[in-house]
Amino acid sequence: EAYTEKKELSHLNYIYQNNDSQAFENSATIKAIDKEYHRKIYMIIGEGSVFLIILLVVTLKMNQSLQREYKMHLQQKNFLLSITHELRSPIASSKISLQTLEKRKNLARDKIDLLLSNSINDMDRLQSLVENLLLAAKIEGHSFQIGKDTCNLSEITSSVISKIRETNEGSRIFETDIKPNIFVLGDQMALTSVITNLIENAIKYSVEASAIKVSLREQVKDIIIKIADNGFGIPDKEKKKIFKKFYRLGQEETRQTKGTGLGLYIVHRILSLHKGKVSVRDNLPCGSIFEVVLPKTA
Ligand code: ADP
Repeated sequence: EAYTEKKELSHLNYIYQNNDSQAFENSATIKAIDKEYHRKIYMIIGEGSVFLIILLVVTLKMNQSLQREYKMHLQQKNFLLSITHELRSPIASSKISLQTLEKRKNLARDKIDLLLSNSINDMDRLQSLVENLLLAAKIEGHSFQIGKDTCNLSEITSSVISKIRETNEGSRIFETDIKPNIFVLGDQMALTSVITNLIENAIKYSVEASAIKVSLREQVKDIIIKIADNGFGIPDKEKKKIFKKFYRLGQEETRQTKGTGLGLYIVHRILSLHKGKVSVRDNLPCGSIFEVVLPKTA
């Protein structure tokens, strides 16, 4: 409107001064008014677009952060559900075993042994859960310093396997290829936890009597540990996510296996602290292969 008004006023002024209405359309005055008009239009469109882009980016970012918050909230809820279950069930089951032992004084020796070994297994389960929780809490606090022990990885791996074999009583077929006396500078307790978590997962996420292959070897600069199972496998789109804190596949209510979603987070964080890494790929014909790479000079 201002443009039209200004144009009309200039037109009248031009006629008054030059007494020629036709020449006005080609005059310098109208060209200057048009130029000014287009400059303002471009300026408004430009400012508007910048404002719109900023608005879109802010909305997108807010949406992303809300979704992240929501996912974190769901994972924490799942974690609480699973931890409650994980703590409750071994306590309840070993309480029943102890109550049976207390009440039935004349139980046969083999029954007594069975109840005792069940209770010991329950305590082992509780112990490994509590150790994982403590380790996760320590790693969270950024003050966690890894030890610099000279660790014999070959011995650590073999002893983890024989301990797990004892408690799982041949439920899985272990195939091992462990090169003796492979040493690394690192935290003995944390590295034991890495290997324990990976082998326990290979058992948890595979079926009875399937094979689990554990290999340990050296390359020029690195040490490679591989744990391969013939279990349920991990879909490609989940392969990166499983290393996040509390992340578990599927919904807690429908999930069959026990766990807290902390194991692989701990594995990943501990290996990062040792300047190493962990990755997962598909095994053939089924299952997963977890590969740990640790630099010899870690
Ligand atoms: P948890 O076992 O306590 O659930 P983890 O952090 O150890 O937590 O593992 C995260 C998820 O990754 C598991 O819930 C499981 O779905 C998947 N996962 C881990 N290891 C394996 C494996 N060997 N085979 C198939 N799935 C696995």
